[in-house]
Amino acid sequence: MESIWRENIVIPERKRAEGLLEREVVVIGAGMTGILTACHLQRRGKQVTVLEAGRIAGGQTGRTTAKITSQHGLFYHSLISDTGFGRAKLYARANQEAIDAYEDMIEERQIDCDFRRLPAYLYSTVNTDLLRQEAEAAKALGIAAEMVSVSELPFPTEGAVRFENQAQFHPLKFIRAQAEGLEIYENTPVKKVSGNAVYFDGGKVSAQTIIFATHYPIVNFPGMYFLRQHQERSYVLALAGCGRLNGMYYSADADGLSFRSAGDILLLGGNSHRTGRNVRGGAYASLEGIARKYYKDSQAVGRWSAQDCMPHDGIPFVGRYSCLTGNEEHSGAGENGDGRKGHGSSGLGGFFAGNRDWYVATGYKKWGMTSAMAASLLLADLVTGRENEYENLFTPQRLLIKAAAGNLITDIGESVRGLSKGWLRPWKRQEETGEKRWTRCSHLGCRLEWNPDEESWDCPCHGSRFDKDGHLLDEPAQRPLDSP
Ligand SMILES: Cc1cc2nc3c(=O)[nH]c(=O)nc-3n(C[C@H](O)[C@H](O)[C@H](O)COP(=O)(O)OP(=O)(O)OC[C@H]3O[C@@H](n4cnc5c(N)ncnc54)[C@H](O)[C@@H]3O)c2cc1C
Repeated sequence: MESIWRENIVIPERKRAEGLLEREVVVIGAGMTGILTACHLQRRGKQVTVLEAGRIAGGQTGRTTAKITSQHGLFYHSLISDTGFGRAKLYARANQEAIDAYEDMIEERQIDCDFRRLPAYLYSTVNTDLLRQEAEAAKALGIAAEMVSVSELPFPTEGAVRFENQAQFHPLKFIRAQAEGLEIYENTPVKKVSGNAVYFDGGKVSAQTIIFATHYPIVNFPGMYFLRQHQERSYVLALAGCGRLNGMYYSADADGLSFRSAGDILLLGGNSHRTGRNVRGGAYASLEGIARKYYKDSQAVGRWSAQDCMPHDGIPFVGRYSCLTGNEEHSGAGENGDGRKGHGSSGLGGFFAGNRDWYVATGYKKWGMTSAMAASLLLADLVTGRENEYENLFTPQRLLIKAAAGNLITDIGESVRGLSKGWLRPWKRQEETGEKRWTRCSHLGCRLEWNPDEESWDCPCHGSRFDKDGHLLDEPAQRPLDSP
């Protein structure tokens, strides 16, 4: 089911790309990241084109809950101990500034997108110890945060950390306005990226700069993002008849819930799980049970799910695409015909060769509104040669911190399990029909698992998804499933 954001909103359809194009910058993906990045670069005088596989904001951005907050769950206390106070302070500031940047863009063009400044609450029904630590950490980092008690939720809580002056909006109204002046081609899936060329069926764009804003990066090497993050999915129920909240709420507890109002509709979110790990289903049913219990007079008017990339250290990857530093000095990986060095390719030949002209933004861990804004401002600075104080924080060339090693090991374990099942036992028998289904993912060959809530085949290793007929739903896979 579509999210409520698409109701009453028509974003005019753009044509497909065709033939040979030349631009200064090509952005792949027209979600929040791609649109914002294209906007900033165009304002700085760059000739930009955006290629989108489906429709504008048809990816995760169309299914977000669109809270614009520097409050990212229980995060700042552990960020300080994992990466140090200085880096944590930069992270907090980048996300705080992102809220203001939205407001500036909205005011400047007088965009009617239901933007509202509201407090964001991180609550617990269990205890306040972790909340108190989090409030202290956030305050020390310069965020206006304090412990409070909460009265708006339909159940008692132990307390909450309130982040002042955060925001929410209607993401598609915002994107529709921002997309107006941009050259965007829809229904144009990128099939291959090599050197400084981006290929699609029936043509290519040659560009000095290529930006991967595809949510999960679609080229495996040299970025190796399949080893650096996994995807998590969660579910949203839209309810009428619940009244309006004056804040946005997110639980610090395991299996906790998320709340925000959008006009008279309440968005109730929860049931997060690693993509591919919802084999029993029941995610929507449990949200519906919660709605019946706490909002007796409510009616469900929509439901949907979405997923996001979870980097091992909790910090997005924004910057040059490669995972290695200085690899632009490796030559010979790609043939660009212009004599420039260091141009990788999407094949194994490009494994060690980075490409200084490829950029990426990914790994927002379900906080992609402020993250996309921070990423787009950083990418615009990198591409136009301006200094940006957040470059080292977000760089994809950073070393793995010790605290992230556990997540890396878990992800490697999942990949080994998924790959061995995919290659040794690539099919599953459908319980209802007894029919054998070929369920080897077209990304790296891991075995897919059935998600009964969405009737989709989902990959537990890297998060690719396919509908019941094998059509591609979510990246990093780029092809449909093969037939048995
Ligand atoms: C349930 C849920 C609720 C959330 N709520 C919030 C929230 O309240 N606040 C918040 O800050 N964050 C939230 N997030 C996270 C946020 O929605 C995402 O991080 C953000 O929307 C990602 O934006 P994006 O532009 O990077 O990706 P997307 O919006 O997915 O855009 C990527 C685009 O790339 C396109 N693409 C992919 N492959 C190709 C190709 N080969 N060729 C061309 N195009 C391609 C896709 O079609 C897609 O349109 C939530 C996430 C979930 C799962």
